[in-house]
This record gives sequence, structure tokens and C-alpha cells, in this order.
Amino acid sequence: MVVGDFAIELDTVVIGSGPGGYVAAIRAAEMGQKVAIIEREFIGGVCLNVGCIPSKALIAAGHHYQESLDSTMFGVTTKGVELDFTKTQEWKDNQVVNSLTTGVSFLMKKHKIEVIEGEAFFVDENTLRVIHPDSAQTYSFNNAIVATGSRPIEIPGFKFGGRVLDSTGGLNLKEVPKKFVIIGGGVIGAELGGAYANLGSEVTILEGSPSILPTYEKDMVKLVTDDFKKKNVTVVTKAMAKEAIDNGDSVTVKYEVDGKEESVTADYVMVTVGRRPNTDDLGLEQAGVEVGERGLVKVDKQGRTNVSNIFAIGDIVPGAALAHKASYEAKIAAEAISGKKVEVDYKAMPAVAFTDPELASVGMTIAEAKEAGLEATAYKFPFAGNGRAISLGKTEGFVRLVTTNEDNVIIGAQIGGVGASDMISELSLAVESGMNAEDIALTIHPHPSLGEITMDASELALGLPIHI
Ligand SMILES: Cc1cc2nc3c(=O)[nH]c(=O)nc-3n(C[C@H](O)[C@H](O)[C@H](O)COP(=O)(O)OP(=O)(O)OC[C@H]3O[C@@H](n4cnc5c(N)ncnc54)[C@H](O)[C@@H]3O)c2cc1C
Repeated sequence: MVVGDFAIELDTVVIGSGPGGYVAAIRAAEMGQKVAIIEREFIGGVCLNVGCIPSKALIAAGHHYQESLDSTMFGVTTKGVELDFTKTQEWKDNQVVNSLTTGVSFLMKKHKIEVIEGEAFFVDENTLRVIHPDSAQTYSFNNAIVATGSRPIEIPGFKFGGRVLDSTGGLNLKEVPKKFVIIGGGVIGAELGGAYANLGSEVTILEGSPSILPTYEKDMVKLVTDDFKKKNVTVVTKAMAKEAIDNGDSVTVKYEVDGKEESVTADYVMVTVGRRPNTDDLGLEQAGVEVGERGLVKVDKQGRTNVSNIFAIGDIVPGAALAHKASYEAKIAAEAISGKKVEVDYKAMPAVAFTDPELASVGMTIAEAKEAGLEATAYKFPFAGNGRAISLGKTEGFVRLVTTNEDNVIIGAQIGGVGASDMISELSLAVESGMNAEDIALTIHPHPSLGEITMDASELALGLPIHI
């Protein structure tokens, strides 16, 4: 501590205001803790500012543009459709991102959470130093929840800047690139690749592994690769990106496939090969907090680190880097500080790729069930057998249930199709509460709705299908 600098005392301090941090702060305040939150860049974190939300806004804009260009199937003909991408970006920033981040700031005020601007560093297990461009302050605290999130990984030969973009650069482009190369066909790359293809870019995705979206099963990925073919998105798998050469008004990307050197020239290249936890520059070692593999903080089932008054949540702890996982862990950690006997259970943690069509999954795949020694069967019902899907003109995809052979308990589900991101919640509830296929089949689903596909899949699991 600097001489003459008196520490300000805090009860619970949260570092980072993403979906982990701001949710932890609110829940801790609801539990009666006196809470302060420290944020160095933007309220709402990556998710609200440069992640989940702005990416979904661009995806939605791409859908509107495509529908405006071609809705002849519905008897709608349009002329003179134009895209004003400056307006798209203004809408994304001002109407979408801003309204949500302002909302989070309002919630902080409402819960009397003190917002401290600046970068936090641990001095020891009860002290933090917060650096602001024109000031610095020391704080002592009783409990800390660390939710500092993650940042994009840079790869050799692709230094971010100019025409080499990270996902944030990709979200904030001023124009739709005529040609756009994306390195990394994971969820972020595939989502933004699809969005820019819909907005008019000629997209090439270079993926190092044998398939894009490697966390999803083959038949789910095929739905997206089939759609990419329709969109003229080129997908090159087993492609090792080597170097980006800035030509001034374009960028040439060199890559290798099966030992053969190839290249592609585009307006921009975006690198989305993964994210690194923000744990390296936080003074965690000064607080005695153990950091494990790949910079992830080791925690117990309450999010408690090896230092009993310091918790860690979200992208800096093991598991999928997802906003809803961060928020879930946030509530557990905040409640644990108040002495509640709570712990995480990830059995029903959904994951979604907002591609065309959307992919969503929860619980086990059939392969995982078998690997775990469970006797289980997968039942798949197609969107093409559903009236609502047909009337929407979106018949690609399926709902698959993985149920135990003995009593039809739903232990996992995968959905590929329009609306999968919303439909998966019913099945998350089913997995979470140990429901069986009969519970779903006996639930009256409104007609016509996409939800009926889930009911139909359940009836299939019971051996009593109506629509197949
Ligand atoms: C393009 C993109 C799209 C995505 N889409 C989705 C999606 O659709 N669904 C989904 O579930 N997830 C999505 N994600 C992932 C999601 O954004 C993250 O999982 C989520 O933001 C993690 O939340 P967090 O609270 O752990 O951290 P973050 O949201 O990263 O927030 C951490 C905050 O901590 C601050 N901070 C860091 N260090 C300090 C410090 N020392 N002092 C003070 N403040 C600090 C940072 O400035 C930041 O605001 C997406 C990510 C990207 C990049």
C-alpha cells in the first residue's frame, strides 16, 4: 500500500461486470451483502458489448436482409432491396447493446451496488489495488468473486490490427467485406461466417480439425455445412493457417492443407480460434490463488478457490465458456458467501450455436451415454413432420432425445433446426428434473408449434408415434 493511501473497506467485491460478475453482484446484494463491482472497460462484459448480444444482432440483420432479398416462396416479390450497413451497426450499438448495458447499470443502482471504474489487482487475500487512468485506490475486502472473463487468442503470423481482426473487430466492421476469411470454424466463427454470408460477403472458413463445430455431432454439423453450401461459404478443413500478408487494400492468408501451401485473398481475415482466460495479470499469485491448466482457476463446487474468501466464476474456470454458465456459477458463489448450502450441477447445461439452422444440445449424446455405461437409445423426429415448421418454410433439422432403455428417462437431447435455441429449454428442464419421455408426451403442446416436435420425439421414444 502506498504511504498515506488508506484502504477503503468493502464487504463483497466482484471483479468484472460480465454475465458472471453483474449477476453475482445482484444476487449477493439480494442476499444482504454490501457489494461493490470493479470494471475496467465496459459494464456488461464481453457478452453484452462484444459477444453474445451484438453477434445475435448481426445474425438477425442478416436474416432480415436475406428474407427481403428472396421471399418469393411466400408470394412476396421485392425490388430495390439495399443494405445500409452503417445503419445496421448503429442499430446494433445504440438500440441493442446500449439498451442492455444501460439496463445493467440501472440494476446496479437499484441494488445499491457501488460501481468502481478501474483495473483491479490483488495485493493479498484481503486487499485489492484498483488503477484508474488518473487515480489509484486500495480496497480491503471480506470476500471476492473474480469474474474477469476471457480474451481472443492471437496466433503466430496473425497479429491483430489492420485487416487482421479478432471477433470484436469482426463485429464492428464499418462495411460488409466483399471477401471475408475466417480462421477457426468453432461456434463464433461459424455464427459470424453465416451472418456475413447472409449480409452479402463471400466467406471462406479455414478450420484446422476435420470438421467445423467439432463439439456437435456429425448429423448436426451437416445441417450447417449444407446451408453453407447454399450460401456459397467455402469451408476448408484440416487447414493450418500460416500467415497473413497485408496488401494495403486486401489481405492474403497463407495456409497449408495436407502439406500443400494454399492462399486466399480477402478484404479482411478474422481469427476465432479460441479464448484465453484473463487470469495472468491480476495478481492472483499474490493472493495465493492457485491457477491450473491453460490459466483456468481451480474451484470447488461452490466456485471457491483454494483461498477460502476468494471465488472464481465464468470463463476463468473450467468448463464451456458460455454466458449462462457464468451467470449460473455467479448465483451459486454469491449464495455460498451468504452461507447457503448450494453447489453447481452442470448436468443440464445447454449449449447453442446460432447458425443456420440453430444447433442446441443439453445433457448426454448417445455416444456419451454409452461411454458412461448406460443402456440408452436415441430417438430422432424431423422438423419436416411438423406443421409449424412447414408453414415457416423451415423444414431442415430434427429433435433427438437420448433416453434410458429401462424407464425412458431423458438424459440428453440435441436439436438442429429453426428455433432450437428456444426449444432446448424444455429439454433442459426435462434433464434437470429427471423427467421421462412420458412426462413430455403427456404435456399438451400448442398446435401448430415447433414444440410439438419434442412431443412427437417423446412419443417415438415410447413406441407410440403419431406423426411418423
Ligand atoms: C463473439 C462472441 C459471441 C458469443 N456468443 C455467445 C452466446 O451466444 N452465448 C453464450 O452463452 N456465450 C457467448 N459468448 C461467450 C460469452 O460472451 C462469455 O462466455 C461470457 O461473456 C463470459 O462471462 P464472464 O462474466 O465470465 O466474463 P466477461 O463477459 O468476459 O466479462 C469480464 C469482465 O471483466 C472485466 N475485467 C477483466 N479483468 C479485469 C480487472 N483486472 N479489473 C476490472 N475488470 C476486469 C472485463 O473488462 C470484462 O468486462 C460469445 C463470445 C464471443 C466473443
